[in-house]
Amino acid sequence: MKPRDRLRIAMQKSGRLTEPALELLNRCGLSFRQSRDKLFCFGEGEPVDLLLVRDDDIPGLIAQGVCDLGIVGRNVLNEFKGIAGDGGAALTEWRSLGFGRCRLSVAVPHDMAYNAPTDLSGLRIATSYPGLLGAWLRENSVDASVITLAGSVEIAPKLGTADVICDLVQSGGTLVANQLRETDVLLQSEAVLAGPQSLPTDERGDMVELLLKRLDGVIQVRESRLLLLQTSRTTLDAVTRLLPGGPQPTLLPVAGQPDQLMLQALCAGEVSWRQLEEIKKAGAREMFVLPVEKMLA
Ligand code: ATP
Ligand code: MG
Repeated sequence: MKPRDRLRIAMQKSGRLTEPALELLNRCGLSFRQSRDKLFCFGEGEPVDLLLVRDDDIPGLIAQGVCDLGIVGRNVLNEFKGIAGDGGAALTEWRSLGFGRCRLSVAVPHDMAYNAPTDLSGLRIATSYPGLLGAWLRENSVDASVITLAGSVEIAPKLGTADVICDLVQSGGTLVANQLRETDVLLQSEAVLAGPQSLPTDERGDMVELLLKRLDGVIQVRESRLLLLQTSRTTLDAVTRLLPGGPQPTLLPVAGQPDQLMLQALCAGEVSWRQLEEIKKAGAREMFVLPVEKMLA
């Protein structure tokens, strides 16, 4: 294959992962030319381009070296790893991205008696994930027939083409609408940044490192809040003890009030009203909770 000097990332052309993946890349400072109905998007600032494809094709494109990285659901990545043998084993998750959360679960008709996986013995199970389901059935010593369907798995029991299903579940609404009951979770999934175990050693490798650093910043920032408050020196200890987790707070003097301090703390996660009220009771005032825009540690 011709050597490339630009990094190429595969992502879903049109589907649940498309908007959040693009937004995440934009937040990492990457922008792309060319409309999204095309297969290829050329990166404007950094040497990073996008290939827009069906999500099922993403692990294969990375394994073949057509793309360096991909944004894809863990469900699709692990299914590929399970059935692609050596080619799949070379792929890994470089980061979990916190969107596209769902789970791969077994669901049975709501009136079917079910206590344990062995109750599935002899049944027909419809799924789009034969690799992951097959592995789970073997782990649980269940001998069942796996029926592979590309889509509309949830209606298979109604159509009589299968007895139970193994499919992706998010809220569970689709299962309820089809009179199905979730029994076992095989995999907790979310979108991940997938790539080869060993990254390119040329300029593309440097670009991957830069991207990973920016991603870490963006992911951390998404969850972070900056808490600002004033406290007197006497209540400082009590207030500090109540602060949500994060690095050591910064203390600043308040002009003209020698016994007062301004405290600044980075909190990993939401700060609730209840937490604020408790911190206030301990002696804090003038409290602000601010979102964090960018962070470079
Ligand atoms: P494509 O045309 O790219 O093959 P698709 O129909 O396979 O699209 P989507 O339905 O857009 O894919 O789902 C993409 C990914 O979103 C899934 O592989 C999964 O990781 C994640 N996801 C999150 N919630 C759900 C859900 N309720 N159902 C299906 N996928 C979900
Ligand atoms: Mg797909």
